[in-house]
Formats: sequence, structure tokens, C-alpha cells
Amino acid sequence: MKKGNNRKFLTSTKVNVLGRAGYICSHPTCVLNLIGPKSDSLGTISISEVSHIEGANKAPNNRFNPNLSDEKCKHISNAIALCRNHAKIIDSDQEYFTVELLKQWKIDHEAKMSYQSQNINDFHNKPLNECNKSELLYKRFNCIQLLINEKDSKKRIAKKNIIKQSILIFISIIAVGYYIEDYLFSFFLFLIFSIFPATAIIWDSYRKSTKFEQRQLNFIQDIDFILKERNII
Ligand SMILES: [Zn+2]
Repeated sequence: MKKGNNRKFLTSTKVNVLGRAGYICSHPTCVLNLIGPKSDSLGTISISEVSHIEGANKAPNNRFNPNLSDEKCKHISNAIALCRNHAKIIDSDQEYFTVELLKQWKIDHEAKMSYQSQNINDFHNKPLNECNKSELLYKRFNCIQLLINEKDSKKRIAKKNIIKQSILIFISIIAVGYYIEDYLFSFFLFLIFSIFPATAIIWDSYRKSTKFEQRQLNFIQDIDFILKERNII
């Protein structure tokens, strides 16, 4: 038998690691379900891959560890559940997707799944120093997601507002210009009256947003402090 076969995961290991991942890809921002129903109402379609964290084969693989035994290589601790895209991506850019990074993905993802499946009561109101490792990691993950969403929605809202306001001002300039028979004067009139409210709105939303972002960043710092204190990171 080739050496490679001794390093492959057993089916039971694959099922176990997929179950621990909640059948969702472990990439931090991927939300793909790894299995779903087939249209025949009997079967399933899977897009799951169970990848080796420390590579099973030698070159070309930067994650390959020559000192890792076959047993440890095919052990569940060396397995990570991913969708097919991310399984391909991590093997195509091994400089970036290191063993340490993949281990962190797995820890974060399982912490998230653990929280969701246990449905911990009063989780959000629980003081940080009373939270266990899974809860802390989940709260940290949540803050990062909130920061990403905040940045996206800020961009979307700003774009929408600018388009809406511009159309409104344009129609007003035309209407007033037509009424007073001086489009240039109308343009300057709206320019002067638009500057102050527009600046106030932009400044206000910027302040609110940075306060929110700062709160999340402070929260992440507090969590990191406790995680370091407990030697988790
Ligand atoms: Zn994925």
C-alpha cells in the first residue's frame, strides 16, 4: 500500500469533523452549507471537503510536516471541514494559508457552532471574566462580523443617500430656476443651503459609526486580554 493511503482520513473521522463544524465551511466569512437535499427528495448533494491542516503529501506543500506520524496525520485534530472552493484555495496559496491560520479557523468555527448548538442563556449579558473559552471566542468572532457589516452598510447607505439627495437637489434647482427664470442663481441658492445640512448629516453619521466601531474594537481588546491571561492565544 502507498504511504499516502495511510495518511487519508477514515470516513468516520470525516463525518465527525463535518458534524463538529455543523456542516458549514470553517472559513471565517464563508457561510456555505456543506450538504443539502437533492431534487429527488431522497438523496443529498455534498460540497464538503475534509482537508489536512498539516499536509498529507510532500512537495508541493508548505504545510507538510516530515515529523508527523501517519496516525497523527489522519487524526481528527489534523482535519478541517471546508467547502470545495476554500479547500482548493488553501492548497493554492500555501504561503498565506499556514497551519497556524487553519488551526485558528477551526477553533473559531467550532466555538461558534458550540455556542449556537448549546444556545447559552443570557450569553450576551454575561460578564467577560465569567465566560468560558467558547463563549469568548464566539463573542470575538461576532464583533469582527459586526465591524465588517458596519463598514459594508456605511458604504451602501452613503451611496444611496448621495444619489437620493443629488436627484432631489437637481429637481429643486430646475423647478426654482424655472420659477425665478434664473437657473444659475437657483443653483447657487441650493449650493449655499445644502452645504450646512449635508455636512451635519455626514458628520453625525461618521461620529455615530466611529463610536460603534470603537466600542467593538475595545470589546475585542478586552476579550484578547482575558484570552492571553488564560494562555488561550
Ligand atoms: Zn467555504
